[in-house]
Amino acid sequence: MIGSGFGGSVTAHRLTEKGYRVAVMEMGRRWRAEDFPRTNWLIWRWFWRPRLALRGFFNMEFFRHVVILHGCAVGGGSITYANTLVVPPDLVWQNGSWAGLADWKTEMPAHFQTAMRMLGVIENRVMGPADHLLKRAAEAAGLGHTFYRTKVAAFQAPEGEEPGKTYPDPYFGGEGPDRTTCVGCGGCMMGCRFNAKNTLDKNYLYLAEKHGARVFAETRVVDVAPLSGKADGSDGYEVRTEKSTAWLAKHPQRFTCKGVVFAASALGSMDLLFRLKQNGSLPELSDQLGNRVRTNAESLIGVRIPGSREDLSKGVAIGSVLAAKLGVNPSLTICAVTERAMSYIPSAGETGWDDAAGIDAVAI
Ligand SMILES: Cc1cc2nc3c(=O)[nH]c(=O)nc-3n(C[C@H](O)[C@H](O)[C@H](O)COP(=O)(O)OP(=O)(O)OC[C@H]3O[C@@H](n4cnc5c(N)ncnc54)[C@H](O)[C@@H]3O)c2cc1C
Ligand code: SF4
Repeated sequence: MIGSGFGGSVTAHRLTEKGYRVAVMEMGRRWRAEDFPRTNWLIWRWFWRPRLALRGFFNMEFFRHVVILHGCAVGGGSITYANTLVVPPDLVWQNGSWAGLADWKTEMPAHFQTAMRMLGVIENRVMGPADHLLKRAAEAAGLGHTFYRTKVAAFQAPEGEEPGKTYPDPYFGGEGPDRTTCVGCGGCMMGCRFNAKNTLDKNYLYLAEKHGARVFAETRVVDVAPLSGKADGSDGYEVRTEKSTAWLAKHPQRFTCKGVVFAASALGSMDLLFRLKQNGSLPELSDQLGNRVRTNAESLIGVRIPGSREDLSKGVAIGSVLAAKLGVNPSLTICAVTERAMSYIPSAGETGWDDAAGIDAVAI
């Protein structure tokens, strides 16, 4: 597995369950709740530019028309994301590159259910000052009926109960880690210092590791080539890595495996695949690579309320919305689509890969 974000963690968990030996290569670091920075002024613990000794979990890439914000850590984007999760409307499946690939409308509800259970998705119960203001603003604009609380992947106490209490695993019948209820600190995108956000290292990836998957942190994949020169990969692959946080001693390593899953996000996977096509390691990669790429089309707008006495950063990162059609919310959809793909994969030792209907649609 290349990458330990949503695609990589779901895949690692499900393949381990099916009896495969799984190694997850992740160029970011492993984080504990107590290691996250209190503020992003501590830039060396927030931003990812290892060449400048910045070894955080948050990355930015600047292109001509777009700026990409993305996570880089064990747990991928889940470490820095805002943990707002929405099931997309059915309309999405009828459009663009999804259309006609599968009977999404019939198949997907069960996989969304599984993904939501695994990620512990609930309706937000922690309303911060900004949520109350947004509600008032919605009502003042005659849009009160369009205001609603978001669905979030965080462990929250029932309303009225004291936050910040630690409980034994509430999600996986005791197989998962202890969790602490959300204190509404508003720091979700800075990494949750309170062990409340349901990041992948607390669910999918946690279970994968528990069942035998090995996660190689600070390990960047730099090359993937078929063994014995067989371009179809029938003899397996050689994967070369180097230590992503090293300056000089790059600690190169070589792994061999039967199959490779590229789950290094849209940007990371394409970056690597283009290099592999150009350097001749995977020359037969399709010329379609890089076509039909899209962002999740977000615009970020800052709003100030001069003179406000309330700390508007409190609450969860995105606790409520107004008049919003959120479309495809990437993380939950990546999990659900990967769950679907994994449901077609036979267990280790069984045949049937060839019949794995829908596998060509996994390249999301
Ligand atoms: C600030 C912020 C807030 C967000 N909020 C939300 C939200 O509220 N809801 C939502 O649905 N989505 C949100 N997102 C988007 C979400 O994080 C991504 O859509 C999601 O993480 C993508 O999942 P992925 O599995 O494709 O890749 P990622 O989660 O990005 O994981 C890919 C991993 O691959 C690793 N990698 C890359 N290249 C290599 C390599 N060569 N070798 C080894 N490892 C490599 C990276 O370090 C990374 O950890 C947010 C993103 C950001 C940045
Ligand atoms: S609001 Fe604070 S405690 Fe709650 S999930 Fe976000 S970072 Fe964690």
